[in-house]
Amino acid sequence: MKYDYLIVGAGPYGAVFAHEAMKCNKRCLVIDKRDHIGGNIYTEQVEGINVHKYGAHIFHTNDREVWDYVNQFATFNRYTNSPIAKFKDEVYNLPFNMNTFYQLWGVSDPAEAEKKIESQRLQCEQPQNLEEQALSLVGRDIYEKLIKGYTEKQWGRSCKDLPAFIIKRLPVRFTWDNNYFNDQYQGIPVGGYTLIIEKLLEGSEVRLNTDYFAQREYFDSLANKIVYTGMLDEFYDYRFGPLEYRTLRFDSEVLDKPNFQGNAVVNYTDKETPFTRIIEHKHFEFGTQPKTVITREYSKEHENGDEPYYPVNDQKNNARYLNYKELAEREENVIFGGRLAEYKYYDMWQIFRNSLDRVRKELQQA
Ligand code: UDP
Repeated sequence: MKYDYLIVGAGPYGAVFAHEAMKCNKRCLVIDKRDHIGGNIYTEQVEGINVHKYGAHIFHTNDREVWDYVNQFATFNRYTNSPIAKFKDEVYNLPFNMNTFYQLWGVSDPAEAEKKIESQRLQCEQPQNLEEQALSLVGRDIYEKLIKGYTEKQWGRSCKDLPAFIIKRLPVRFTWDNNYFNDQYQGIPVGGYTLIIEKLLEGSEVRLNTDYFAQREYFDSLANKIVYTGMLDEFYDYRFGPLEYRTLRFDSEVLDKPNFQGNAVVNYTDKETPFTRIIEHKHFEFGTQPKTVITREYSKEHENGDEPYYPVNDQKNNARYLNYKELAEREENVIFGGRLAEYKYYDMWQIFRNSLDRVRKELQQA
């Protein structure tokens, strides 16, 4: 065999795997059907600004080892995610904190804010869906102004039909802290994410514009083992039916002014505005360029040929996923990893964590 590992997908999962395997003198071939590396964390320079081509990616983690790991390949800036939400002509801070409560109700005393939420909360031990989860966490006002419209646009489903866990990501704080994440470490890599992937892939053979499924037998014959980071249902020819995804459409514009919205992320939480958010990329890096690049993000159901972004982890899809997973677990020479192959709504740090763990286990056994 020419290679020890054929790695299908040049995103972070595949790149970390390749990097660690290579350090142990394993021969890796990395293929990707796109014309660039990096998967969805790919960034591209436009007007001197690193544009997050597949949606905003903000690195955050509590995992010290993962943080140290990524810092080997880039310097991270001090960016702290503090999105703004627009609901009709009202403007709010996110995540839900004293600033938001003041903007909503004019309260500046944390105890008053707690009382206000308590008076609207749904008393419910075990929320069965996202709506119940949201109502029991923050009450009706916040649910209706800041959650319902955004979530239903984002997922294309009623909040009653969505799993509660999606909203558990959002903190609720009785302090004046606009930091979206609770994690200890956070930042954006100076120079963009693509540089990290480039460094991880240094020394591996990479073939772009290369579709695994177009020449499956040929690629299978090249390596002892396959690391597959694509869609799990596609790997098995959709035999149990497709796993559903949400996809995003990005509408980017270069504007001839230095500042459009004064913040990297502005969410549009009403249901009338057709997009979910506008990203102004330069603010991830405190950019001072004369122009600015903005991207409107529209969410829609994934159809053949679209890029899959968010797995729809409802009951139907999770059950289907388990059927595929059972097949995957029986494979001796294929390793499955990443958001698409594991059909999970992972954050970036988890991908680094999982890939590192998996490749280490693999190299110990090899
Ligand atoms: N969300 C919301 N209002 C907002 C932002 C987020 O209701 O203004 C909910 C929504 O259900 C979304 C989830 O929180 O799907 C997670 O949002 P986040 O921005 O963390 O996810 P990302 O799209 O960045 O992965």
